[in-house]
Amino acid sequence: MAQGSDICFEHVTFTYPTGEQPAVSDVSFTAKAGTVTALVGPSGSGKTTIGTLVPRFYDVQEGHITLGGVELSEIAFVFQNPKLLKTTLEENIRGGCKNASREDILRAARLAQCDDILAKLPEGIDSIVGGKGVYLSGGEVQRVAIARAILKDAPVIILDEVTAFADPENEVQIQAALKELTKGKTV
Ligand code: ADP
Ligand code: MG
Repeated sequence: MAQGSDICFEHVTFTYPTGEQPAVSDVSFTAKAGTVTALVGPSGSGKTTIGTLVPRFYDVQEGHITLGGVELSEIAFVFQNPKLLKTTLEENIRGGCKNASREDILRAARLAQCDDILAKLPEGIDSIVGGKGVYLSGGEVQRVAIARAILKDAPVIILDEVTAFADPENEVQIQAALKELTKGKTV
């Protein structure tokens, strides 16, 4: 696996604009390309903050974060509370992939275990979701978000508590979807 997508934190310290204490203090680690790196710690210890620093939602005050040769725009995220846009399921999965064909989108949906969602909606992948559209459960929305990430096919994937809102049945499907999403990726 290309060393080009190692993520490396070196002595990173970050304080939120509204924060008094650093949320992350002197953190160093390498997330090796093509492997899974898990951050484990109590609530409030800074796991989510570390995840959001990689896509530069915020810039750090001290230290460095490097991503080998990978452009920051090439990272896919699946966070614990994804939102759908008020449009068709197809467009929600398409996300930023303007040139994806309908077949590409259906394939991503299948790999993300969304076939049962498509089957139960009267208009399948053309159904309007989000806002006042058809209701999807937290676990179903999560699978749609994973389909979007599979379609994006980014070399680097950041996951944050992705099964937090899933019931046990959805959790099994989400695990299967994540297995497809993360094959050969830096996670
Ligand atoms: P974890 O994901 O490990 O539970 P977080 O990264 O959410 O931890 O939080 C780390 C610290 O940063 C906590 O002290 C939290 O209160 C603070 N924090 C998190 N988000 C914000 C924010 N948007 N603004 C200010 N402080 C924040
Ligand atoms: Mg968190």
